[in-house]
Amino acid sequence: MEWWVSMPKIELHAHLNGSIRDSTLLELARVLGEKGAIVFSDVEHVIMKNDRSLGEVFKLFDLIHILTTDHKTVTRITKEVVEDFASENVVYLELRTTPKKNDSIGMSKQSYMEAVIEGLRAVTAVDIDFVPHKINTQDSLNSIAMNDACDGTRRKKTYVRLLLSIDRRETTEAAIETVKLALEMRGLGVVGIDLSGNPDVGEWNTFLPALKFAQEQGLYITLHCGEVPNRREVQPMLDFLPQRIGHAIFFEEEEWRQLKSSKIPVEICLTSNIKTESISSIDIHHFADLYNAKHPLVLCTDDAGVFSTSLSNEYKLASTAFGLGKREMFELARNGIEFIFAGDDVKQYLVGAFDSAAKKLN
Ligand code: 5GP
Repeated sequence: MEWWVSMPKIELHAHLNGSIRDSTLLELARVLGEKGAIVFSDVEHVIMKNDRSLGEVFKLFDLIHILTTDHKTVTRITKEVVEDFASENVVYLELRTTPKKNDSIGMSKQSYMEAVIEGLRAVTAVDIDFVPHKINTQDSLNSIAMNDACDGTRRKKTYVRLLLSIDRRETTEAAIETVKLALEMRGLGVVGIDLSGNPDVGEWNTFLPALKFAQEQGLYITLHCGEVPNRREVQPMLDFLPQRIGHAIFFEEEEWRQLKSSKIPVEICLTSNIKTESISSIDIHHFADLYNAKHPLVLCTDDAGVFSTSLSNEYKLASTAFGLGKREMFELARNGIEFIFAGDDVKQYLVGAFDSAAKKLN
């Protein structure tokens, strides 16, 4: 197995509906096509298309949501997405999704999230830990040791935590509803709030009351920031001091300075940025500048299904593009532990898992 696949990894920026397998999407489209709800041949090429602008990506999400928004399908895709990440040795996954309401099928934001939780419970391929509880340090050290002892036949363990996304199309009230739901679901592994959706839509001030409320209540916050040039947003977002930001592409000099001095960790999604043509070529990607400045960074997939990538692939790509070796990539992955939204007990477990994997690194 290649080192970028076998080494433990931490995924902190993955959208549930963007991470669906193509094969599942095609199957769902075929079924809806047979029912006459859509024309399969019209959507097949949209699903299989490889390169899309950012605008086209959001059109694709509208199609994906038509295919996936029912309780059974939400449960299925959650299970598959978690199993896919676990299969490439993601030991900690923060999965984000936008709770959806669809009265015609009796779906509320809460029932949508219950379907997600059902999906986590349905995972069989690996052991999943998603409900926060005090981890007994000795037990967790034993479980790492046991994993090492029975290499090959061992059961893998993946920690999963959830972020609820506010879509930029939503109103202030809808955003607050999402934050309240996140607070109610803290006992089920919800740790934070994400602001995402088409960056050309909506205003920062619309979401601010909900994000402030979330912050006051102790939820962690990550914002999609600087995906398109928008002078009115980047600075207020940085002033808000979220725990992390995603992308950070279209920044001015002063905003780079503010980001670097604030030390806000950046979720870097290389393939996504290149495929959406937000960045014209990997060798001018800001990863290099931030990495050299020792700014806190974590490599992520964004939408592994939509962009036909995987977290292993992102590590391989960064290694090749920026001339970083196996050890440097391992350290980069390990540094991600610092930026997770789960508690210190989970961090401690992950440190143990990385220490144990480090012994096998040669
Ligand atoms: P979901 O929240 O439905 O599980 O995942 C898909 C949604 O995540 C999209 O409809 C969109 O709101 C958000 N999303 C996925 N990828 C991106 C991205 O690259 N940028 C932004 N701003 N939002 C995204």
